[in-house]
Formats: sequence, C-alpha cells, structure tokens
Amino acid sequence: MPLKFANRFVDQLPADPIANTPNSSTPTSSEIALSRQPRQVRGACYSRAWPLKPAHPKLLCLADEVAQLLGLSPEETQSSWFLNAFSGRELLPEMQPFAMCYGGHQFGHWAGQLGDGRAINLGEVIGTDSGRWMLQLKGSGPTPYSRQADGLAVLRSSIREFLCSEAMHHLGVPTTRALCLIGTGEQVVRDMFYDGRPRREPGAIVCRVAPSFVRFGNFEILAARQEIDLLKQLIDYVILTDFPELLPTSHRTVGNETIVAWFHEICRRTAIMIVEWMRVGFVHGVMNTDNMSILGLTIDYGPYGWLEDYDPTWTPNTTDAQGRRYCYGQQPQIAYWNLAQLANAIAPCIDDSTSLEEGLKLYVETMRSEWQNSMARKLGLSSWDSHQDSPLVEDLFELLRSTEIDMTWFYQLLASWTPTHTSPNALSNSTTSDSRRRDALGHFQGSFYRDESNNTELATQLESWLTRYEMRSHNDGIPSANRLALMKRANPRFVLRNYLAQQAIEEAEAGDPSRISQLLNVLRNPYDEQPAMQSFAEKRPEWARNKPGCSTLSCSS
Ligand code: AMP
Ligand code: MG
Repeated sequence: MPLKFANRFVDQLPADPIANTPNSSTPTSSEIALSRQPRQVRGACYSRAWPLKPAHPKLLCLADEVAQLLGLSPEETQSSWFLNAFSGRELLPEMQPFAMCYGGHQFGHWAGQLGDGRAINLGEVIGTDSGRWMLQLKGSGPTPYSRQADGLAVLRSSIREFLCSEAMHHLGVPTTRALCLIGTGEQVVRDMFYDGRPRREPGAIVCRVAPSFVRFGNFEILAARQEIDLLKQLIDYVILTDFPELLPTSHRTVGNETIVAWFHEICRRTAIMIVEWMRVGFVHGVMNTDNMSILGLTIDYGPYGWLEDYDPTWTPNTTDAQGRRYCYGQQPQIAYWNLAQLANAIAPCIDDSTSLEEGLKLYVETMRSEWQNSMARKLGLSSWDSHQDSPLVEDLFELLRSTEIDMTWFYQLLASWTPTHTSPNALSNSTTSDSRRRDALGHFQGSFYRDESNNTELATQLESWLTRYEMRSHNDGIPSANRLALMKRANPRFVLRNYLAQQAIEEAEAGDPSRISQLLNVLRNPYDEQPAMQSFAEKRPEWARNKPGCSTLSCSS
C-alpha cells in the first residue's frame, strides 16, 4: 500500500471524548454506535467516526491526475484494496477517520452546530509533491453531526460534486479535488422536490481531496460557545500547518500580527476565488459560512449551477428562489459578509479588531483589481484602464442582460469577431453601420437563446458596443495574436453546463456511467477547441430550459 499518512488534525487537536479510541481501525460495536449518535460536541474540534460498509461498491469514475498526486498507480486504483478503502468497507491501517465540528450562518442566520454530517475524513496523505492531502469520503454514513439525517449521498449529487470539482480545477479555479466516485450498490430515499413524494435512488460516495477541509464555521462554533482557548488553538494549528509562510522567521509561534496577516490572506484568497467564479460563470448556490473554505477553495458542490443566459439574478438553488441571496451577481457581497462573520469569530484572539476591518478592505480592493484584471483578459486587453474600461464593461453587461445571451458563447464569438471596417472614420457612414449591424447580429447569433434576427434594437446596441470595443482594442495596440491568446485563456469553451451534468446523471442512473468519464475528459481541457467534442460546448437546448436538474436544483442530495 503506497499511501503515506500523517494525521496532524487528529494528533494535534482535541477530540470529542465520546468514542475516542485513537489509532483504532477496529473499533468495538459500541464505539461505532456512539460515533453515529447525534449530539452537541463541546470542547473538541472533531469526533471519531467510522464509515458504513456498503455491500456492493463499484468504482464509477476515477480522476487519474488526483490519483497520481497521491502517488497511486493505475494498477493500484483498480485494486480491491482501493475500492474497499474508498468505499469505506475496509480502512487502511494508518487511517484515523473523523468528522469535524463546525457551525455556520445559513442564509444569513446563525444555525449553531452543523459539522461533518455526512463527510468522514480518512486521514492526511503525503503526496508525490510533498504536499499534504486530506482524503474525505462524502456520503459514507452518519456521524455525531448528522442531526436527523442519514449521512448518505445519492448518485446524482455525487456525480455533480465529482465532475464539478475536477472541472473547476482544470479551469484554474481554486477548489477541493475529487479522487473517485463510487456507487454503493444501495438505495437511498430522498424527497427530491420536497413535495412529499420520496423515492429510492442509488447511493454513492465521492472521495474528496484537499489540503484541508476547515471552514469559516470551524472557528465560528468555538467563538459562539465562548471556547476561546480552543479557538486560539485551532487558529494556531491552521496557521502552522496551512499558512507557515506567514510565521515570523525568528520563531514559530502565532502572535497577534500573524493572526491579522492570516485573516488578510484569507480575505485575499477569497477575493481571488470569487473573481474566478465570476469569470467562468459559476454560481455556488449555498454560500453559507459553513461552506466557505479557510484556504479560499471552492468547497461543497451542492445546488450549484453555471450561468447560461447572462442573468446576474439567476440562482440554481430553488430554496433561494425567493430571496436570491446566493445568485450570481451577489456572490462578491456575500463573500464579504461571510468574511465579516469570520472576523467576528476570531476577534477575541486579536488585540485590536480594527486590523480585521483592514482585511475586509483588502478583500474589496483585491476583488476590484482582480476583477478588472480578469475582465481585461476576457476582452483581450493588455491592461485595465478604468477611465475607458469601466463604462465599456458596464455597457457590455447591460447588453448581455437585455436579452437571453449565453455568456460562454458570447465571449467565444467576441474572440472570433473580425470587424468588417477597422478604420474609425468608416464607422460614421450610415450604410456601413447598417451592414455592420447585420454582420454583428449574424456573428453573435450562436449565443442567443431566442431568434433575434429582427431585433433591431439589439443590433444597434451590439454594433455600437462593438465599435467602441474595436477602438479600445485598436488603441490598446495589442497585437491580434496576443489578444486572441489572452482571450483564449480567460474564456472557457467547455463548462459543466447544467444539462450536461443532468444527461450524465440520467444515463448513470439507468446503468451506464460512461458519460461521466467522457465529460471529465472534455472538461480536462476547457480552453481548447476539441472539435470532436463540440457537442459538449453546445448551449442549453430548449428541452432543458425549465427541466429540474438543468435549470433548478433543490438542496436534496
Ligand atoms: P450543506 O449546506 O449541504 O453543505 O449541508 C449543511 C449541513 O447539513 C452540514 O453540516 C452537512 O453535513 C449536513 N448534511 C447535509 N446532508 C446531510 C445528510 N444526508 N446526512 C447528514 N448530514 C447532512
Ligand atoms: Mg456544507
């Protein structure tokens, strides 16, 4: 067995005293029963927890590059020990499974203790790059944090989590990873639409992989319970293990200044993550503080979605359809709000809390500069010029909002737009403008969800915006090849469109999981043309417009 474990979280932080038998890979049945008993866990960062043993696990998909990162060969990933370990059937000797204690603000309200209700951390592996990777099974049974729920996950939500984590990684967006997707061979009952009509669905487990799964909520729960010594201990642990570069060179103790620097770094990373979501059109859907990673990674893929028609008020989450708290356009503000909750939580460990406000300001500044940088790249400009580009981009968004335009396709077509008349002088001629309007409408036709061929208002708006864009691009002086190269790297061609995930789900539920691997393959190179795979770049077909799973998702998973 090639995996090398170093279980720092369990070794260095206090455990729930109930059912706490360290290093026990063969717990007694009473320990197991206790580990599945819902309770409030005080004075601890985690509880020991043991996965259920599914009767007929089956490997449905593997992310080879994640296996490689952990040092696993293709033969090993096909072995029986691999299937047993990552389905929870038979743990490896060095694994010390545990569930973390955390709380969170859900939809703006403090929700108390939440915790890993259906996630069990198996242990921390030293990867081939010397990095440390926590392995975590999602959907492998109840823990003390499961409350009234079963700790399980269904195939549909597991496919979505598996594929999206990897898709985001290949897009260059900070994210947790996924090693494998395993079908449990067992049925899980879910009331998918919350309409009193539960049905049995196939169960599945995703093995998630990240340097750490610590969330804002891990700190919030300790602050809410006034467990300040433990809060300081957790802060120290996270800084020492995941942010060692912030420690003073002279000593390795975490003082006030280091905690402040750490909060600033979280603000900076969170801003970068959100800008990346906005760049690719990702909507998380449940940005509760328990779903915010302390490392600035995208975490917990639930009712997420991808913006198709550019509508900043769009949210995939039906639970959020009323308030739209977590819609696409709100994500930057919500991340700020979440960071403010984290600041409140860690404030008791800091001398002067105004330094935390500085962190929030840093978030705003980073957000602004990164976003401008990202938009400049999306438009193929060598750099952002606020004076010219702020109105240009505002008007672009106005244009995109004015009718149903696919965001991904729009930027693809913008990259391939070759102006008919590049000379600004030629643009004043009205006949030329007429033909340019027709050209523009024709060129962008592929990004429209409705027939816009007679939409003269859109044609005028589009042509006028393109004229300004061409002039800006011309004055920028960027060589055409560089402009294209910038745009190509900033604008994905292939994203995990909601309907694509749904097709893979339906086929897998019907017994054929092959489309999951096929999609993963396409999503490995989201910026490349891949002509043979063009069908995976198609914008949402009409049948998917209002179909559940494609346009709307519930939290049921
Ligand atoms: P989420 O917003 O989906 O990330 O989940 C919020 C909380 O509910 C977390 O503490 C989860 O662990 C818990 N949870 C969600 N689904 C289940 C389930 N099926 N069984 C146990 N706990 C769950
Ligand atoms: Mg969660």
